[in-house]
Amino acid sequence: MKVVVLTGAGISAESGLSTFRDNDGLWENHRVEEVATPEAFDRNPELVQRFYNMRRANLKSVEPNAAHVALAQAEQQFESFLLVTQNVDDLHERAGSKNLLHMHGELLKQRCVQCHDVSEIIGELSVNAICPNCDGVGSLRPDIVWFGEMPYFMDDIMAALMDCDLFVSIGTSGSVYPAAGFVQIANQSGARTVELNLEPGDLQSEFQQAQYGKATAVVGEFFGNL
Ligand code: NAD
Repeated sequence: MKVVVLTGAGISAESGLSTFRDNDGLWENHRVEEVATPEAFDRNPELVQRFYNMRRANLKSVEPNAAHVALAQAEQQFESFLLVTQNVDDLHERAGSKNLLHMHGELLKQRCVQCHDVSEIIGELSVNAICPNCDGVGSLRPDIVWFGEMPYFMDDIMAALMDCDLFVSIGTSGSVYPAAGFVQIANQSGARTVELNLEPGDLQSEFQQAQYGKATAVVGEFFGNL
């Protein structure tokens, strides 16, 4: 069986990372327009860098939970298993997932707007940081896909969705496109589509099957019963 899993902020909630949806559309007390758009970065790069420096520092105080671990174990079970995450944290890889695509980028990486080099962030990122590849000063930004930007790996993700037998969406509200549209593509491809979430997401009616509850309970249970 060929499996594609999509995860969102809800899978990391029980590790202690806050979601948007559960905070009235705010991410750690900020509106997305303030910290998660290219316009925000142009307007106030210090605020945006500080925001992601704090999110990155916070990763040190959280651990993968049972749902991340269940997905890493499930990966071993199937002929083909692709995990696509909207999350920018590193909890899936710390739990042991290998075939993983971060479609919205990663908190631990920086990207140079001049030479496009992507590298690990060592310490904090500042507006005067120097690119390790081209030596450009002040050209580094968090390697995060902001609202209005094109997510990464879309060709690979589309190909996997069009070829999968099972699509499982976990802990995502279904309000951010193009990820929210993956269920429709999987349905059109003839896959079985399943929502695992705390509560029904915006696209509840698109899924053929659903199981609602905390990710730490429902993810292991679902894959354990397959
Ligand atoms: P969202 O905040 O819009 O929705 C979160 C969903 O998770 C909701 O449907 C909610 O009911 C569900 N949820 C909450 N607690 C849960 C639990 N314990 N178990 C199962 N489900 C639970 O998040 P989204 O759909 O991922 O979209 C928001 C965007 O925000 C993403 O693109 C992501 O890049 C970014 N983001 C990432 C992180 C992270 O990396 N951890 C955190 C916040 C936001």
